[in-house]
Amino acid sequence: SPDQRWEMRVGEAGDGARIVQLIDRTGNYAAERMRVDFVANASHELRTPLASILGYVETLSEEAGEDPGIRARFLKVMFDEARRMQRLVEDLISLSRIEAEKYRTPAETIDLAMLAEDIRDELARGGSERARDVSLTIQTEGALVAGDRAQLSQLLHNLIGNAMKYGRPGTPVRVTLGRDGERMLRLAIEDQGDGIAPEHIPRLTERFYRVDAGRSRSLGGTGLGLAIVKHIVERHRGRLDIQSRVGVGTTVAVVMPRAQTAVIKG
Ligand code: ADP
Repeated sequence: SPDQRWEMRVGEAGDGARIVQLIDRTGNYAAERMRVDFVANASHELRTPLASILGYVETLSEEAGEDPGIRARFLKVMFDEARRMQRLVEDLISLSRIEAEKYRTPAETIDLAMLAEDIRDELARGGSERARDVSLTIQTEGALVAGDRAQLSQLLHNLIGNAMKYGRPGTPVRVTLGRDGERMLRLAIEDQGDGIAPEHIPRLTERFYRVDAGRSRSLGGTGLGLAIVKHIVERHRGRLDIQSRVGVGTTVAVVMPRAQTAVIKG
């Protein structure tokens, strides 16, 4: 295939015969390609708002800047663009931290039910209209996982955030925590909204992959949320299960192993 990459090495055996070695480098090539694409995408995502801010600064420093109406409007745009850059940089930092910790098994014992309740309450206190549509149902006792609290909190924020963004305003966002067999927990986030066509689903956890980039940007998305979720799920030895129907809604479920023993902290 055109993506196949081979390295050929020619050597000599002791008796003068030639040895030709073919090494399959396809994996390295794909990894390298992804790294290059990632840097290019991240730079592009940062360049756009930066160019816009510079443009507005320039205009403000000219005559137009003396009109208070224009000033206020431009400052608002500059603020929004700067916030976009901030979100992106924060997601990039999260992603690289999570990747750096990939092989370190998370050691804290986390009660997922309590964590989900905390996040629900935090959202409610935030006071946004959409936060009122979020409900939490806990169907199991002892929802303990060996985990990293900050990462699991980020996972919940990203998934509930997506459900709030891509679900229709006013429709419920249901968060359910239950069992999946004896050994696993299942945390599901269900929305009623855009849905996702099946061909996109396998690619959603790629960095910067978006079904509709314009829509994602206008909702404040960075395109990194699910890439971050995927890494967090892998670090917790879990899996991600995305079920969706276009125009109906989406359920994103995280299935991960329950902690075998509870660590009691004194
Ligand atoms: P974004 O910041 O763009 O939301 P994500 O990595 O969180 O980035 O998600 C990638 C893409 O997956 C989104 O741009 C969107 O197209 C799609 N997506 C994610 N969650 C949902 C959902 N609950 N409903 C519909 N589409 C979704």
